[in-house]
Formats: sequence, structure tokens, C-alpha cells
Amino acid sequence: MSAPERSDLTTTSAADLARALKARELSSVEVTRAYLDRIAAEDGRLGSYLHVDADAALARAEEIDAAGSAGDGLAGIPVALKDVVVTEGVPTTSGSKILEGWRPPYDATVAARLKAAGTVLLGKTNMDEFAMGSSTENSAYGVTRNPWDPERIPGGSSGGSSAAVAGGLAPWAIGTDTGGSIRQPAALTGLVGHKPTYGSVSRYGLIAFSSSLDQAGPMARTVLDAALLHEAIAGHDPLDSTSIDSPVPVLAECARRGADGDLSGLKVGVVRELGGEGHRDGYEQGVLDRFAEAVALLEGMGAEVREVSCPAFDLALPAYYLIAPSEASSNLARFDGVRYGLRVGDDGDRDLDEVMALTREQGFGPEVKRRIILGTYALSSGYYEAYYGQAQKVRTLISRDFSAGFADVDVLVSPTTPTVAFPLGSRVDDPVAMYAADLCTLPASLAGVPAISVPCGLSDGLPVGFQIMAPALADDRCYQVAAALEAASGGPLIDRLTGAAP
Ligand code: GLN
Repeated sequence: MSAPERSDLTTTSAADLARALKARELSSVEVTRAYLDRIAAEDGRLGSYLHVDADAALARAEEIDAAGSAGDGLAGIPVALKDVVVTEGVPTTSGSKILEGWRPPYDATVAARLKAAGTVLLGKTNMDEFAMGSSTENSAYGVTRNPWDPERIPGGSSGGSSAAVAGGLAPWAIGTDTGGSIRQPAALTGLVGHKPTYGSVSRYGLIAFSSSLDQAGPMARTVLDAALLHEAIAGHDPLDSTSIDSPVPVLAECARRGADGDLSGLKVGVVRELGGEGHRDGYEQGVLDRFAEAVALLEGMGAEVREVSCPAFDLALPAYYLIAPSEASSNLARFDGVRYGLRVGDDGDRDLDEVMALTREQGFGPEVKRRIILGTYALSSGYYEAYYGQAQKVRTLISRDFSAGFADVDVLVSPTTPTVAFPLGSRVDDPVAMYAADLCTLPASLAGVPAISVPCGLSDGLPVGFQIMAPALADDRCYQVAAALEAASGGPLIDRLTGAAP
């Protein structure tokens, strides 16, 4: 490979950047500067970052170059982190006013691992407040726009990360996914996004939304890049009590193998309840068409395809919107105006309860308040069994549907989202329409199984995502099948936006 041109750096895959860094064709400072220049030129329009420290990024890149380690693994490659990831000394808000100005005294394990790997932090990306949302319109700091069409949403809640990567403002980024917040924004911006097996990536230092669902994962331009970033953050962490003590998965190798395009022997189940016969309400025809074409591509590579029914998936949405708010109402109790960030009304005349109430009233946005009220209600005595208890039963049924499905097939597939990216503002006054954006991603979240979104073409010029779900700890299967699909569909879709492909 010849050295990428300076002007091409922000359209080059991270894997290729690593090769060029290793060969000393490029320095980390050159790569970092290219991204910082593009952020300076473009982010006023896109709004993907909440915080960028150009001097710190360049100083870090210089340090990596001076140490001669650029290109060793991820060393010297810039990265962006969703603002839900706690970073030592670097402002972290989780998209909320209530944390404005907070500089955490420690690093999340995900941030620490990326630092130890020698990556260069470009900045923190915008997100729906406390990761509650599907469009990034719930951020207290303004909206983020979709690089494919600036009048449309970039997905959410990791919409700052998706817009940054799709717009060439970061080579890759970390997102978090509680009900779909990595996969949905990846799908709507033509990227690859993977939600790891619950417990396989540390939650230590992620600002908690719904602790039994939250997972951090990679968002990238290519399947191989996502695998490389995922490997760097995975693995057991004693600081997270739900962390699984298993070896770091081998993913990049699976992605490379998958690109060979041989899927013979692989059994693929198409989930009827996610866009199949009798379950197409709310799905756009263009999404269903691209999905069907992708399934045909898998078949063409030797996969054996059949339909699988998962009846409890129909109940995933109501179950999720009881469980996630319930856990959120408990997790968000820590924002009391005393320990972190904002404090309102502390003028000496008010008692602690009043200060706390004023702080929470002014510090939280409307969607966060809605979730706290919903969750508190679902957990209250007299209603607990009818709401939270029932939702937990549905969660068990969904896990059983997955187990039954995986007894017959190796992976389950569906569209990632029912529609392409919708126009800014079109769903803000209709929470239920907003929640429907997560229809396809919620089952894997509730069951804790891994799921990837990989692009499968365009509908009306906008990206469509293909979701591949696998049994717990079989994340490698997601990458293998995604890589095969990426190769068979003419390479990374994002290259069509950047002009790097026809
Ligand atoms: N959109 C979903 C919600 O609003 C999922 C969010 C997420 O995965 N963080 O809860």
C-alpha cells in the first residue's frame, strides 16, 4: 500500500492508518492534525463534539511519535469517546446540564484501556441526555446532524459518535448501547456498530443509565476497524461486578476471515417478528428491500437461511420501557446537587431538600424527568408486580426465544431499524414514535446477547443497517458474517459518502 495522501487521512480506515504509522509513512501528529483540522472546519455544522482539546491531542500524538510506538497496535491513532465515558480531568457531562463543568477524578476502564493502548483522545461526543433517546435531540447542548443529510438525525443516543465517524471527524469512536444506542446510530449513518455480550466490556466509569443493559462498544467505518477497537476495550475487569471472567475475544482475525466470503455451513435465522410476514407495521419498504437483498447475498455465499419465530420479541418494547426507566430512576438518584456538578438555590435560606429539588428540576431535561417518573411509578409498592415484575418475566421469555432460536441456527438477523434516518424535529413531540426506532435492537439488549449493525445499502440515498445477533460470547460470529456482507456488498458503505468509492 502506498502512503495515504494527507488530504485522504480522514477517509482512511484505522487499520490502514495503523499500517502507515508502523511503516513510518505517517506520524501520529500528522494524522491527529488532519482530524483536528477537519473538526475545526466541519463541526460547527455537524455538532458532533461537546469537548475537543486540540493542544492535549497534539501533545499526546507527539509523545507517541517520540516514543517510536506509533503503529504498534492502536498506538498513535485518534479516537473519540461518547460523553457518557468518564475521563480523568476531561469534562464529562453525559449530555446533561446537571453535570456541566464536571471533571472526573478518574478514567473509565474503557478510557484507561484505550489510553494504555496509545490512542490519542480527540474529544467527547454529543449524546442524548444520560443516553435516553434515539436521535441525539435530547442533549442539553444542542442537536447533532447526520453527515448524509444535515436536516436529519444521526441516530441516538450515540449520535455524536456516529456523526463524528461518518463525517470524517474521527477514525472511530466509542458508543454505548442500552437498547440500541450503538447499532441504531451506526445504521443511520452507514457505519458498523457492535453491542458486545453483556458483561464482556467493563461498565466501570460509564455513567449508569440502566445497569443490567448498558454496554460500551465500537463504532467504525469498517468491520475490521470495529473488531480492532472492540479487542482493545474488552476483557475482565475486577472493578465491574458484572464483568465476565473470560479471555479477550479474537475478533479481527474473524473479520479478516469473514471477508473471504465463504459462509458454507452457516445457519442463518431471519426473525419473523422483526419485519417478517405480519410484522411489517412501521417498516419502510426500502429498508425491507435492502434487508432481503442482503439475506440473498448471505445465501449466495453458502449460508443456509430459514425463518425463525421469536414471539416474545413483540413485547420487547413495553418491557424495555419499564425496565430501563426503573433502573434509571434508581441510578439517577445520585444527582442530588451535592456530590456532582450543578447546585441550584444554595443561598443559605433553603434546606437540603429544597436545594436538591431545585437542582433536579433545572438540571434534568424533559425526557429524563419522564423516565424517572415512569420508573419510580413502575417500582412503587402496589404496582411493582404489575409493571416491573411483568417486564422481567417478558425479559425471561425473550431470552428463551433466543435460546430456542440458537438451538437451530448460528445467527439471527433482522433490519437494525424500521426506517432510515428521520428529519430533525419530526418525532420530538411523540415519545412513542421515538421509542419505535428501537424496535429491532431491544431484544438483544434485554437478553444480553451480542449484536452488530453493518450497512446493507441505501434507500433514497440514506443508509440502511443489517443486524446480526449471536449467542452470548459468540461476538466473533457477528464480525465474521458482517465482514462477509461488507465484502459482498462492494466494500464499506461509508466510502460512498466520502467519495472514496463509486
Ligand atoms: N433509544 C433507547 C432509549 O431511549 C435506547 C437508548 C440507549 O441504548 N442508550 O432508551
